[in-house]
Amino acid sequence: MSDCLFCKIARGEIPSRKVYEDDEVFAFHDINPVAPVHFMLIPKLHLDSLAQADEAHSALLGKMLVLASRLACEQGLENGFRTVINTGKGGGQEVFHLHIHVIGGGNIPPMVKRS
Ligand code: AMP
Ligand code: ZN
Repeated sequence: MSDCLFCKIARGEIPSRKVYEDDEVFAFHDINPVAPVHFMLIPKLHLDSLAQADEAHSALLGKMLVLASRLACEQGLENGFRTVINTGKGGGQEVFHLHIHVIGGGNIPPMVKRS
């Protein structure tokens, strides 16, 4: 059994505000949202990050992206949303279980500030 925080959330051992669940994917609201709507999709399969994914995970990752869009709509983000995947320490990742952030509903600034 994995000790990972998001594995425990997917197994229901740590409470979360669930958005969606099936046999492969779990989605839940971020505990520290950066916008009015901010949830994350995770695979139930533990992968540390996107850097660990390979061709064997293509269908799962594709499914997660399609789901991200559907769930964003269901959460009221018909006008659009941002998806973010932080990967590794160099990508600012803090929880090392692959996750897709879905963010929207407020004033979303440009992702990278240009001087
Ligand atoms: P990242 O920086 O991409 O690894 O994102 C990790 C995210 O997990 C952050 O946005 C945190 O606010 C969120 N987070 C950490 N612990 C929890 C938790 N117990 N429930 C929901 N979200 C969490
Ligand atoms: Zn995990």
